[in-house]
Amino acid sequence: MSARVPLSPGYVNGDVAFWYRSSGVPAPGPPLDRDLQADVVIVGAGYTGLWTAYYLKKARPSLEVVVLEQEFAGFGASGRNGGWLTGDLAGSHERYAKTHGLAEAKRLQREMYASIDEVIAVCEKEGIDADIVKDGVVNVARTTAQAARLRASVTAARPWGITEQDLRLVEPGERLRVAGAVAATWSPHCARIQPAKLAQGLARAVRDLGVTIYEGTPVTQIAPHLARTPYGTVRARHVIRATEGFTARLRGLRRQWLPMNSSMIVTEPLPASFWAETGWHGAELLGDLAHYYMYAQRTADDRIAFGGRGKPYLYGSRVDARGHTHERTVEDLWDLLTDFFPAAASSSVAHTWSGVLGVPRDWCSAVHLDPATGLGWAGGYTGHGVTTTNLAGRTLRDLILGEETPLTTLPWVGREVRAWEPEPLRWLGVHTMYRLYRVADHRERSMTRTSVLARLADRITGH
Ligand SMILES: Cc1cc2nc3c(=O)[nH]c(=O)nc-3n(C[C@H](O)[C@H](O)[C@H](O)COP(=O)(O)OP(=O)(O)OC[C@H]3O[C@@H](n4cnc5c(N)ncnc54)[C@H](O)[C@@H]3O)c2cc1C
Repeated sequence: MSARVPLSPGYVNGDVAFWYRSSGVPAPGPPLDRDLQADVVIVGAGYTGLWTAYYLKKARPSLEVVVLEQEFAGFGASGRNGGWLTGDLAGSHERYAKTHGLAEAKRLQREMYASIDEVIAVCEKEGIDADIVKDGVVNVARTTAQAARLRASVTAARPWGITEQDLRLVEPGERLRVAGAVAATWSPHCARIQPAKLAQGLARAVRDLGVTIYEGTPVTQIAPHLARTPYGTVRARHVIRATEGFTARLRGLRRQWLPMNSSMIVTEPLPASFWAETGWHGAELLGDLAHYYMYAQRTADDRIAFGGRGKPYLYGSRVDARGHTHERTVEDLWDLLTDFFPAAASSSVAHTWSGVLGVPRDWCSAVHLDPATGLGWAGGYTGHGVTTTNLAGRTLRDLILGEETPLTTLPWVGREVRAWEPEPLRWLGVHTMYRLYRVADHRERSMTRTSVLARLADRITGH
């Protein structure tokens, strides 16, 4: 590691995520050891799989629900994310409205906002302590071009029912002070969570309801009414794929969702003087309007967990499973963090890690259930899955139970999206996008409007 990044004595790179530091990275529990019959088998014990199991058992306690997980519950993005329980929609309102109209896209947005409170309510009810505090989110612009984008985003939000109460411009520094901020927005629709605590707490709640989660059990084939593993086959009326960023590793699904990396660093606990100086008094989440964007949270023990794009994508949709992060990414994140908060430069990096999220070709998420084959899935959350997975879990419940509810007619249900291009086009497209975003951010320092390079990058990847 380069000398310019101060590392803590106990610095860790990878090992899944900092979020497991206090509890220890769990060893996988007992795997499947025989063939089984169930009503519903769910592949993947992240938030999608766990919420689906939770709501199914709550609705129909008699259902036999089995979860198969290759590692341990919360091994994927659910145990590694930035902890934004956000009301932002994955993808653009326009794309959901294109098929279902304006009113339905607005309804989806409202369901997203309501899902934040639903997650908080379930955590309270089930005794899940995930450090949740709903103090909202601040987004800052640090160039004139970013400020123009920020203002435009507020104007563009209004037709989708996002009112002044939901999102508004604030004075930079009104909520928290970021060096160089020239404009800012505030929204109450976001809560800080500790991701791994939510995943592990949910897994416990699901087990308490009578669901068996077989860990250390990789599923090698998903087919109508069955999920095959090296240790046995589970046959079920419904088979739900909840594998998000790992989906490309399943046969026939390599091009469905692009496994996109996101990386994070976390500092040592910062002193009270830092929080007073920055005016970061609560658990507000912090984001920005750069193309090479960042996201941050103040952790319950007063660290900054700071994330960004990192090394975007591995050729052939490969996944680096344990979260090891490249030196250049750690340097970039540290440089950005200390540029945002010069006073944090006296701290050091305690841990860095990465994870994968699933990106569909049109960057909009979807929920599916084919009643004929019993096959279902939800995902493609493009980095907005912490809240969306809850909505997905409740929607899959209704679809599996065959009930027509307001959730089963939401515009993301049954959306069809074309596959990504074969390699090397996939790799070239994503890497070109990242390069263009980097240059665009640099150029925008002396521009008043969004760089054409960023628009070109969006067009190449369908963003
Ligand atoms: C670094 C990072 C930061 C992020 N920050 C945020 C944020 O702040 N807010 C937000 O909304 N979203 C964020 N996201 C995205 C969010 O975490 C995800 O959208 C969400 O957790 C997806 O949940 P999931 O259950 O669908 O997928 P995952 O949590 O990835 O779970 C999939 C599970 O399936 C298992 N699995 C995969 N293949 C198989 C197989 N063949 N057999 C058995 N098991 C299998 C995996 O081991 C894994 O446990 C972030 C993601 C990353 C990586």
